Amino acid sequence: AQTNADLMARRRAALPSGLGQAFPIFVDRAENAEVWDVEGKRYIDFAGGIAVLNTGHRHPAVVAAVQRQLERATHTCFQVLAYEPYVELAEKLNAMAPGDFAKKSFFMTTGAEAVENAIKVARAYTRRSAVIAFGGGFHGRTMMGMALTGKVAPYKLGFGPFPAEVFHAKFPCALHGVSVDDAIASIEALFKYDVEASRVAAIILEPVQGEGGFYIAPLDFVKRLRALCDAHGILLIADEVQTGAGRTGDWLASDLWWREAGVAPDVITMAKSLGGGFPISAIIGRADVMDAASVGGLGGTYSGNPLACAAALAVIEAFERDGLLERSRTVGALLVRGLQALAAKHPGIREVRAAGAMVAIELFGTDGKPDAPRTAAVVKAAIDAGLILLSCGTHGNVVRVLVPLTASDALLEEGLGLLDQALAATAP
Ligand code: PMP
Repeated sequence: AQTNADLMARRRAALPSGLGQAFPIFVDRAENAEVWDVEGKRYIDFAGGIAVLNTGHRHPAVVAAVQRQLERATHTCFQVLAYEPYVELAEKLNAMAPGDFAKKSFFMTTGAEAVENAIKVARAYTRRSAVIAFGGGFHGRTMMGMALTGKVAPYKLGFGPFPAEVFHAKFPCALHGVSVDDAIASIEALFKYDVEASRVAAIILEPVQGEGGFYIAPLDFVKRLRALCDAHGILLIADEVQTGAGRTGDWLASDLWWREAGVAPDVITMAKSLGGGFPISAIIGRADVMDAASVGGLGGTYSGNPLACAAALAVIEAFERDGLLERSRTVGALLVRGLQALAAKHPGIREVRAAGAMVAIELFGTDGKPDAPRTAAVVKAAIDAGLILLSCGTHGNVVRVLVPLTASDALLEEGLGLLDQALAATAP
């Protein structure tokens, strides 16, 4: 029988060490919110392949839709011969995105590519070059993705130089002492010290920073960003690669901006859970912005692959049929209640944060500082007990939950129980 150790040895010999791996485990099979490794051990999946499985592993509707498409055609390259699922998916995403203006969409394969293409259309439309992103933000591992990402180690180490004309402002975070005023002032400072506002094509932000620590952009900040963009002819890009497809209790996190503050992004990127486990990303935006690039300037051989389009359409259908947006809010509330109970019991948990089912706790040491070592220990204790958990955060002290929205209440409670044990086992 295969063992994790044998497979890890082969992996180490055959694969570069720069390719990280959270756990020395090889998967055999997965079903909804559970995974079994090659040794037969069962895990509860609170990671969802990093925010990819809002509809769970192998959602039956997704599997069926992909199987149907498999029987018809798997690839033509959309720029050579088109297929309806691509167009239908664009129509659906256009209709679902916030803002009372005409929208258009096109597809790529990864989140990083969606970000690259959002910048491409923003530059083509504005005929400007500069882009402002935020400290702690994560936008991918391509050259522009790395440039936009606001964290050096490990993402940028040794990989430069990066594309020019990228500037970083502060992301507001009350817990770590950055107010909305501070964040806006940091943009004004860029305009004063580094780049004139009239040369800035776009400001890109995550509505909730994902890799950066599940920090939620306050509505007041978003309103002021929109006003700043409008005053200077700058486009606002929401990177919803991690927040999108229902994670925050809305289809898009920016639906909340629109509902509560009348703010809509000009361009939105999606990926991850959009495809329910199949690789697809989307760029959705104002029709006039999306039409600015020259013919042939956008696309890619595999972009918007028919199997992935079929999967994404099935994901959208599953959300509608199974009421998964409401479920996202219910799952979030259940997790928040559970984590608050753990916070009352275990010292060191400083904050329970949630945007829908995008839920996190932050761990601090007895010295009052972010406790990255304990966070790593909690994640390790959890996996040993059979719970897949991920950490994140600029300070490495955030435990995040990205469990499938299709997980049962019983499974969520079971997972919380394992987290309880992990916290107890790592008490300071
Ligand atoms: N943007 C955000 C907000 C992300 O969370 C990620 C992935 N963690 C990316 C972009 C990059 O996506 P991918 O890994 O699919 O290129």
